[in-house]
Amino acid sequence: MKNTSKSFRRVLVTSALPYANGPVHIGHLAGVYVPADIYVRYLRMKGKDVIFIGGSDEHGVPITIRATKEGVSPQDIVDKYHAIIKSSFKEFGISFDIYSRTSSSLHHKTASEFFKKLFLSGKFIEKITEQYYDEEKQQFLADRYITGTCPHCGNEKAYGDQCENCGTSLNATDLINPKSTISGNIPILRETKHWYLPLDQYETWLREWIIEEHKEWKPNVYGQCKSWIDAGLQPRAVTRDLDWGVKVPLEDAEGKVLYVWFDAPIGYISATREFTADWEKYWKDPETRMIHFIGKDNIVFHCIIFPSMLKAEGSYIFPDNVPANEFLNLEGDKISTSRNWAVWLHEYLADFPGKQDVLRYVLTANAPETKDNDFTWRDFQARNNNELLAVFGNFVNRTLVLTHKYFGGVVPEPNSLTDSDQAVLNDLVYLPQKVASSLESFRFREALNEMMNIARLGNKYLTDQEPWKIWKTDPERVKTVLHISLRICAVLSIVSEPFLPFSAAKLRGFLNINTFNWCDAENPGILPFGNPVNTPELLFEKIEDTAIEYQVDKLLQTKLKNASPAGHIIPQRTDISYDDFSRLDLRTATIIAAEKVPKTKKLLKLLVDTGIDQRIIVSGIAAYYSPEEIVGRKVSVLINLAPREIKGIVSSGMILMAENSAGKLCFVSPIEDFDNGSAIK
Ligand SMILES: [Zn+2]
Repeated sequence: MKNTSKSFRRVLVTSALPYANGPVHIGHLAGVYVPADIYVRYLRMKGKDVIFIGGSDEHGVPITIRATKEGVSPQDIVDKYHAIIKSSFKEFGISFDIYSRTSSSLHHKTASEFFKKLFLSGKFIEKITEQYYDEEKQQFLADRYITGTCPHCGNEKAYGDQCENCGTSLNATDLINPKSTISGNIPILRETKHWYLPLDQYETWLREWIIEEHKEWKPNVYGQCKSWIDAGLQPRAVTRDLDWGVKVPLEDAEGKVLYVWFDAPIGYISATREFTADWEKYWKDPETRMIHFIGKDNIVFHCIIFPSMLKAEGSYIFPDNVPANEFLNLEGDKISTSRNWAVWLHEYLADFPGKQDVLRYVLTANAPETKDNDFTWRDFQARNNNELLAVFGNFVNRTLVLTHKYFGGVVPEPNSLTDSDQAVLNDLVYLPQKVASSLESFRFREALNEMMNIARLGNKYLTDQEPWKIWKTDPERVKTVLHISLRICAVLSIVSEPFLPFSAAKLRGFLNINTFNWCDAENPGILPFGNPVNTPELLFEKIEDTAIEYQVDKLLQTKLKNASPAGHIIPQRTDISYDDFSRLDLRTATIIAAEKVPKTKKLLKLLVDTGIDQRIIVSGIAAYYSPEEIVGRKVSVLINLAPREIKGIVSSGMILMAENSAGKLCFVSPIEDFDNGSAIK
């Protein structure tokens, strides 16, 4: 593969800029930031010159819409979410060298200069088109600021870019009866000039650079690029009429800003520039290896559009790899910010304080590397309890406790090695190499599994050797066993660092390892005999069923709310006593005859056998059941409800029905064929 045949002097790692109109969730972490952080931590431990760039994407229409809705400025919105996002990343140990933002003045300057250079060297084409304009507010309307009737399905609230009812992509001019959402007025069409990047002119180059030279890219990335290029590329507008964003730095461009897709990737460059005065060597020296970590929705921007911008500019390098991930789903459903179907990082930390590594572990073990993958709370619990706690944590704890018990907390000197000792020591050299080679190929799940194989190796070794059984008879042998077990702990404390940085640091604290690099995984001197080790605390704690049930229930509540947009969920009523309940005489019964109550739509008159008597009950179920289909049906009846007259009929009792959030009714019946009159309690 290319990355092994060519050697680079330094590495520039970027991770997608999250959009600052909401907090970040586990999907972001799994798809982009955890793998990028693992990769960067590993390279740093290898002593590479690497920088890790991140920042918030703060321009674009969704932010202005949100600001209008909340009655604040766009800057207020991005200030709020930039702070939340930045702090979530910090808390999860995402070790950016800089986490910047695209509303910064340096970014505005950098993006302006970039545009200006392309403009002056004739890289854009100009086009005049007709766009909707709000005469009262005196502004052009972005697609999302126009609603109207969908020409396909008749939905009267379709947006200028899409109908959310039938899912069709639209042009604003397709809408019937268009309306400005700002003033409510009918917009007029007005001519406007914009600049376009003619992507079609880069097709031949892209074909050569990606299709021919980057066959080693992940199949999902390579395949998507190929199909875009094969479909033919079109000129793409780099400017738009909007007042929030990087102003177009030209004289005849009042009221125009750079399109967010154009300014956002330049954010990587601005952030690097903010981080170091020596930024150009990371962006322009061919001996720099550039890697973009992104989700699959960003592939076209990072593999086709941004490289074309860089190519047009002329002095920049191109990404060497773009290891994009697929999507992470949550409990079988697509993660959605608008439906609140997500695990938000700040909420996770409130519910599981100090358990950042557990989430990092589970998200890596389940990473959507080659296909969409699912996060479930049960899997989260199982991986913590059965893997991190039962294997990794348990092995470390047993080793350190035994070292204290037998050797006063000092690393013992080994004696002669048996064949099985030697085999373990060989694996201890081999496994970290496997971790490294998986990491270098962006196979993070595999790398994590190999790391855990070191813990599994230790756990098995200690269990097989049973030092607690031979201590009395062969204490010399116990010295060797614990020495090797401590070596395994030391290797773990180094190799687990990219994946579980908080726990790895704790473990090195137990072992008094202060300085280390990746090569120290193979260095026995990292833990010399005679060195003291500290009393361990638990590295991982059991996660109880109640904590998981709480999370599952939280999601269930979200689902119920989503299922009933009208807010039909009936809140729990006030408590009653057992006496209140026991006064209800509930029985099983059978409907033996049924007919419609004349001149009503909802009511059926039922003759019911309660086991005690046969009686008339009037029930409001005609919308859901016809008289014919319910004769013979087993039901549950409240028989001591005081008789009352309904439409001239005396009704004695009530048939129990379940009502769902949409207001639909169904019978509540015993699931076995019970005699009529059986008590329900
Ligand atoms: Zn439609």
